[in-house]
Amino acid sequence: MQDLIIHGVAIPPGKRVSFDIPLPSFYTHTPVPMTVHAIRGRRDGPRLLVCAAVHGDEINGIEIIRCLLRSPALRGLKGALIAVPIVNVYGFVRQSRYLPDRRDLNRCFPGTDKGSLAARLAYLVTAELLTICTHGIDLHTGAIHRDNLPQIRTTFTADATTETLARAFGVPVILNADIRDGSLRAEAVQRGIPCLVYEAAEALRYSETAIHAGVRGILRVMRALGMVPAGLVGGPCRSRSSPARPSGSVPLRAASCGRWCPWAPRSPGGSCWGWWRIRSARTKSR
Ligand SMILES: [Zn+2]
Repeated sequence: MQDLIIHGVAIPPGKRVSFDIPLPSFYTHTPVPMTVHAIRGRRDGPRLLVCAAVHGDEINGIEIIRCLLRSPALRGLKGALIAVPIVNVYGFVRQSRYLPDRRDLNRCFPGTDKGSLAARLAYLVTAELLTICTHGIDLHTGAIHRDNLPQIRTTFTADATTETLARAFGVPVILNADIRDGSLRAEAVQRGIPCLVYEAAEALRYSETAIHAGVRGILRVMRALGMVPAGLVGGPCRSRSSPARPSGSVPLRAASCGRWCPWAPRSPGGSCWGWWRIRSARTKSR
């Protein structure tokens, strides 16, 4: 089997290893570790990078990864899952999207080893994690007070593998989103690594629905890649038709003052179509 070594740490077949990669210290000399969880199956296969909190205030992905790492489906893992719950540790401790120098980490990839704090962090993620992976999922949320429907962001002109994985994720919306220069997704695509961006709910607030959809979606993608047995993941998304594929998005706002609750009752068949009904209801009310 091929070696799997991350930042000098070897991950043997059939083992789960958690370790810290030291990041540049705070200006107070306080050490800043970035924790990595690597799980390797007994057989070679795809190497999936799942990372969260590239924007430090987008906390739902952290919980998605925590739940994912506890999934019984990983017992039959083929290949490797490399999970980083908090990439932008600096922003997370300050509850901020940005780094302390106001830079957006997701505009700084691939970074440089002698640049700004953001450039060095981006470089480390690129060199230590992205280069050893074959596929990627980057977990995001909407901005503060902007609640996004669970969605996969990709370009409609993406390669067939990315298209297949986007559909496998099983959320109700696949949004055509141009690649942003300097983003983790852009760097992955540049390197020929299929990469999905999952975006759901809002910053600084946990959403049980978004977290549940994210965990299920990642496991469905892993099943599509042959990394986990189908029987342990459960059935595919119970959507009765294809996901919506809008070419863009617009925020919906309350038409008058007051307390506006956008939620509609979930369908009895599953959460995904509950979300889709919400969207329909909101659209009709405009
Ligand atoms: Zn984000």
